[in-house]
Amino acid sequence: MAEARAFTTEEVASGIYVRRGVDEDVTTRNEDGIANIGFIVGRDAVAVMDPGGSLIDGQRLRAAIRRTTQLPIKYVVMSHVHPDHVFGAPAFQIDNPQFVGHAGLPRALALREDFYRKRLEEAVGKDRAGGVVAPTMLVQTSAELDLGGRVLALTAHGIAHTDCDLSVLDRNTGTLLAADLLFVERVPSLDGSLRGWLKELEALGSASARRAVPGHGPTSVDWPAGAKDLERYLGTLLRETKEAIAKGMDLEAAVGIVAQSERSRWALFDDYNGHNVTQAYKELEWEQ
Ligand SMILES: [Zn+2]
Repeated sequence: MAEARAFTTEEVASGIYVRRGVDEDVTTRNEDGIANIGFIVGRDAVAVMDPGGSLIDGQRLRAAIRRTTQLPIKYVVMSHVHPDHVFGAPAFQIDNPQFVGHAGLPRALALREDFYRKRLEEAVGKDRAGGVVAPTMLVQTSAELDLGGRVLALTAHGIAHTDCDLSVLDRNTGTLLAADLLFVERVPSLDGSLRGWLKELEALGSASARRAVPGHGPTSVDWPAGAKDLERYLGTLLRETKEAIAKGMDLEAAVGIVAQSERSRWALFDDYNGHNVTQAYKELEWEQ
């Protein structure tokens, strides 16, 4: 096996550490270390968000935490159902934390778990893939996690990137851990609702944060300015898909033209834009 890339984190704000994921899909070599994941250190305890894309990714994150602090890992926040964010959760069972998720997460995991695990095991091997840990704390609308001198405000969002997106705001530093509600540089993937995502982004724009940690892309961007590219892309997807439907264009034709002006602006554009157009088309065709 190729030698693993060094696992490094960056302290994006006081006590908030983030590992930048690579802008790739899962491969044997990257071991699904493709999402931005990290941890937040309070006076008394540590919270993880997210636990990583595979068992091995989670174990490396846990080792990075232990190089930084010996405080107990009390919470593992799972931002949404996608495996690149949460399949590392088993690496933290040894700490007996609360595994925290959106109220919609258990259902979403139940529907997707087998499919995701199979695909991940094929890529990284059965013993390194990890898997699903059932959430032990569910968030219906909002919740707070107290790490000692540091309270994290959690928000369970309406359907957006997925139907189970959870964001975290660290009030001490004004840092929004947005997970996949925010993509920067890497083209977003739409697995929830286009209109819903734009709505949640607008609401997050007024969050009292000055920086945000995206689920993919740089470890930190200014907020809300850092959402501009994503809003432009999603806005273009909405406008041009509606136009295609209004013209009576079929799905295949729409996939060929919608949002092509965005092509040079995003990594992995050709891998995801067609899927996004398909999702948008299915959502919007009923509005006619
Ligand atoms: Zn995602």
